Amino acid sequence: MDKIPLLVPLMPTLEQAKAYFAEIDGNRHYTNFGPLSRRLEQRLANDLGVEQENVTTVSNCTVGLELALQARGLPLGARVLLPSLTFVATATAVSRVGMTPVIADIDAEGWSLTPEIARDATLREHIDAIMPVATFGNPQDPALWDAFERETGIPVIVDAAGAYGNQSAGSAIDVVFSFHATKSLGAAEGGAVVSPDPQRIQRIRALSNFGLDVRSGTLVELGTNGKMSEYHCALGLASFDMWEQVKEDRRELYARYMARLRAACPSLQFQNKPESGVYPLMAVLLPEGKDAISIGNRLSNAGIDTRRWYTPALHQQPALRDCTMVGEPMNANRLAGRIIGLPFFLGINDAQIDHVCQSLAAELES
Ligand SMILES: *Cc1c(COP(=O)(O)O)cnc(C)c1O
Repeated sequence: MDKIPLLVPLMPTLEQAKAYFAEIDGNRHYTNFGPLSRRLEQRLANDLGVEQENVTTVSNCTVGLELALQARGLPLGARVLLPSLTFVATATAVSRVGMTPVIADIDAEGWSLTPEIARDATLREHIDAIMPVATFGNPQDPALWDAFERETGIPVIVDAAGAYGNQSAGSAIDVVFSFHATKSLGAAEGGAVVSPDPQRIQRIRALSNFGLDVRSGTLVELGTNGKMSEYHCALGLASFDMWEQVKEDRRELYARYMARLRAACPSLQFQNKPESGVYPLMAVLLPEGKDAISIGNRLSNAGIDTRRWYTPALHQQPALRDCTMVGEPMNANRLAGRIIGLPFFLGINDAQIDHVCQSLAAELES
């Protein structure tokens, strides 16, 4: 058997994207909020059940997080609470707009920064904003965070990079998605910010265009170049054409894979998240006493590619060593070294899934 890759991105083929590219040839509009970008916003808005004025595209999720923070008008140095178990971009986005990451623990079941953890943190530390993460596609409950924001007045921005298809929009909070090739809806690079406040969306859009007021040509505030090009929007639209099928296929694959993992590896543990979710990856928890490095090495010898997502955790990263932490992140410390990403992609076949399950079982049950 050939090596089983960790992940095979699912992107539209030339054939599937061709009509959109031809439109760009005709429009001669290549970026700066062209017609395809407006169409992608419309499709996102329809899919999420919001209005087009509640959505703007951005060049990627990381920039979207930066601009969403900036659009809340927080002062330099503002303290932003985020979970210890996340991709590094959650933290770099905060630092790069001059704010200060404050690292909180995750909950043991959903592996996420929950409203309860955030509430506790605000009693112990000064917190100006919160950036919960839809960890491994596990959606945050928008109603709980809407209530949190309304009660505390603390802005909440959800990093839902890998949760398109699972994460819904809020009525107070902002949500940011990634359309990176490795996520569930791919445009190679791209992202979107969804906000209940159309003025915030306008501000984020202006910030993604350097902070210029285009009509007067004045620089209103310091933004960046964070626009999603028409070519990337073309790929996003072509991905949307396959979206219903992709959702169905990903759900079916996840259910089939989980059933086999549960049967073959009874000691394996799982993140508590909706079984019917649309997931771009498979991250599982090894039983206590096992570590992901040695199991990963042994699976590699069996021809299976794995990844240690998100390890080291944020508070263990050299560039973030000086960050403030809200106490010891006990759950993150307990879980991070045991989480391992298994091969997961549309097109993986039953023989490959069985090889993963049986190889993992041989390591665990020995
Ligand atoms: C993928 C990911 C990002 C980065 O998204 P980009 O679109 O590549 O910038 C940020 N946060 C999390 C949790 C992610 O999984």
